[in-house]
Amino acid sequence: MSGPLISAALERIQPSQTSAMTDRATALREEGRDIISLSVGEPDFATPPHVVEAMAKALRDGQTRYTPVGGTSACKRAAALHFTRDLGIAATPANVTISAGGKQAIFHALCATLDAGDEVVIPAPWWVSYPEIARFAGANVIPLPTTPASAFRFTAEALEAAITPRTRWLLLNSPGNPTGAVFPADELLAIGEVLDRHPQVLVMSDDIYAPLRYSDEPHATLAALRPDLADRVLTVSGVSKSHAMTGLRIGFATGPEWLIRAMERLQSHSSGNPCSISQAGAVAAMQGPQDFLGEWRDIFRTRRDLVCAAVNAIPGLSTPVPDGAFYCLTDAAPLIGGAFRDDMALALHLLDHGVAIVPASSFGGAHCGLSGFRISFAAGADTLREAMRRIETAVKSI
Ligand code: PLP
Repeated sequence: MSGPLISAALERIQPSQTSAMTDRATALREEGRDIISLSVGEPDFATPPHVVEAMAKALRDGQTRYTPVGGTSACKRAAALHFTRDLGIAATPANVTISAGGKQAIFHALCATLDAGDEVVIPAPWWVSYPEIARFAGANVIPLPTTPASAFRFTAEALEAAITPRTRWLLLNSPGNPTGAVFPADELLAIGEVLDRHPQVLVMSDDIYAPLRYSDEPHATLAALRPDLADRVLTVSGVSKSHAMTGLRIGFATGPEWLIRAMERLQSHSSGNPCSISQAGAVAAMQGPQDFLGEWRDIFRTRRDLVCAAVNAIPGLSTPVPDGAFYCLTDAAPLIGGAFRDDMALALHLLDHGVAIVPASSFGGAHCGLSGFRISFAAGADTLREAMRRIETAVKSI
């Protein structure tokens, strides 16, 4: 990727490994190979019909012009409704912004606030884009390693030890990608106490998987638990994962007004407004029925149980049962070092057997001593059964 005209900032980052693996699977399929792709993080459900209808109507009504950079007032009201109703955060249209996916909100927030040499504390394993965005913005990534034994959650003491005077952000992601880790309220409160001692630290709470929790505990999030930290917590959400709208690219963020305005200032020179038609869809998604979310979650729970049982029955593979999201981070350490130099080599072997997954190294697994791969269980039960059969055959063939 390097070249004489590439900037130093771009040289610091890698392309998204999840997109790379998905593109590879697509290319093999186009060559006629039978590949099951469990590499991508998107629900396989159809976008709800009332959302599709709202977008078709917006198109017919000619809503094809620029909108305000940070979103229409209708979409901002819908996002504020979501934060208040679903996450318990006192949001108003004045302190929310709409972006082209949650990813863009995170990109703009970090780029608007980081300078060279600043530090960003990121729990590992992490979502692929967090460290790359932080590095692009010139910051140093400080990994906060977690392990399957601690259900991929870090302690308040470990956080305290990771913070320095240069720390500008802590990135929190619950339920988490790629681990499915969910932080309970008492642990978030303990994290809040650490933050009380470090007023220079902003917190990104990425709650994009909030509806996908498999226990009956209510969703816990820092901005709701500690409203007094509101001046430095940015909560990110959206409709991609919750409402099967990944391609429509709508994300929401709420936080202190200075930060929301800073993100919009940057957005005014990057994408401008998010897609007008998609915004109309997001309004319908938030204002329309929500009851199907529970049904979708139950379907995901069944798939999770199917995949975890199958993984844990294959010698050399193991996984904890994730509490949320639709990923299962599988430990394959016993298989690495012999036939396979690293987990990327194992991933390519599985691809040869017709299943695309993403190696744990793409998610910073090395910081946690973890070699393995992430399985996305956002696919139908029959597809998942066939994929697990192929993985078993591939592992047994070693
Ligand atoms: N945050 C996490 C943890 C994710 O896994 C993703 C997508 O994979 C996003 C944010 C961004 O979602 P989108 O930009 O599709 O809304």
